[in-house]
Amino acid sequence: MSASLEKGVNALREQVDSTVAAFFSSCVHCGMCAEACLFYTETGDAERTPINKTEPLRRIWKYEYTLFGRILKLLGLAKPVDEELLTEWETLVYDSCTMCGRCSMVCPVGIDITGVIRKTREGMAAAGHAPKGLIGATQRAITIGSPMGVKLPALQAQIRHVEEDLGLKVPVDVEGADYMLLLSSMEIMNFPEFIDALTRIFDKAGVSWTISSQAFEATNSGIQIGVSDLAAELVQRIVDAAEKLKVKTVISPECGHAYFAIRWDGPNLVGKPFGFKVRHILEVLDELRRDGRLKTSGFEEQKITYHDPCQITRRGGVVDEPRNLIGMIAKNFVEMPEHGKMNWCCGAGGGVSANERADEIRLQVFQRKKSQLDEIHAEAIVSACSNCRIYLEDGLEAHNMEIPVLSLTETLAEHLED
Ligand code: SF4
Ligand code: SF4
Repeated sequence: MSASLEKGVNALREQVDSTVAAFFSSCVHCGMCAEACLFYTETGDAERTPINKTEPLRRIWKYEYTLFGRILKLLGLAKPVDEELLTEWETLVYDSCTMCGRCSMVCPVGIDITGVIRKTREGMAAAGHAPKGLIGATQRAITIGSPMGVKLPALQAQIRHVEEDLGLKVPVDVEGADYMLLLSSMEIMNFPEFIDALTRIFDKAGVSWTISSQAFEATNSGIQIGVSDLAAELVQRIVDAAEKLKVKTVISPECGHAYFAIRWDGPNLVGKPFGFKVRHILEVLDELRRDGRLKTSGFEEQKITYHDPCQITRRGGVVDEPRNLIGMIAKNFVEMPEHGKMNWCCGAGGGVSANERADEIRLQVFQRKKSQLDEIHAEAIVSACSNCRIYLEDGLEAHNMEIPVLSLTETLAEHLED
């Protein structure tokens, strides 16, 4: 056994706890998770069912932790976890799963299949079986601080532009501010309008906020690739910055997985509760709406729908807030079929977008989003995740659909009351 394979098998072994054992032993093979997964429904490929993606971890559990499996192993009848298996499963575990959480919602015996796939990634990554794109993004996140290699001067340049355009200050490193805003690299490089929009909204609402020059990156490639140590290191940087600036709340921006990583996985990764709150930007904006501090005027004319980013809605619990906010600016709002917690993924989450090898299947499974949109004839899509935004646009273009994709925060800012 090669050293990397041994490391991977050991990493998988470490993931087998009582929860994983209970999950594997209670699966009744009903197939319901398959029908919930767009990588199965849009390809019809039985290999892409959610539970099948956990096979490397299941084998370790079966042959090392169950009596029947151990007997098979003694008789030389066990199917080992070997390089061949890991090579084959790499495209299932990384290219064909966005960690969207939809399968976990439907399992009748309550198996958190998404969580088990996440654990399977731990072993795959340790054995060197992670996609190149994700390895590169994670290395850049650790060494540079951003998966896209965005450094502080690039952020400072965007901030300067916003300040010049608006004549307003974008606060950086303000000790004692109420809120510390995180940003995704995608927002900094592709959608700096988001910084512009929030600067205007927060100025109108009189919000005390800041950006940390020490930890401004929200995304966490460690979670996506499945290496908890690296994920914890990235979370710790944010914790250190928030503590240094003594802020009360850290805001996760319009990025899906960043929110899940910092709010729900974060304290577990660093092994202690945070001394500050974490809120998604939509939660903050909805609180401002509720308190009468966010006021808008006028309405969008077109028929608008909302794409629920999986990590914000299904896995994050932010369901009503975007709808409350859209209600302020849209009279002609239409829900997608299976909206909210059971909405379908854009196909690009969970590191799929950082993995060029997965481009073809990503566009293939976009067919599911297309079917949803075909039913409602929406003229614009609003969402709250930059990754969803880019890859919705990509999928729409590939399917010859001309529907603009808007940021909810930016659209609200366009309607700010004078
Ligand atoms: S998390 Fe989503 S993409 Fe991954 S297996 Fe489950 S349903 Fe499919
Ligand atoms: S839905 Fe649950 S019980 Fe049914 S096959 Fe999937 S994991 Fe097994």
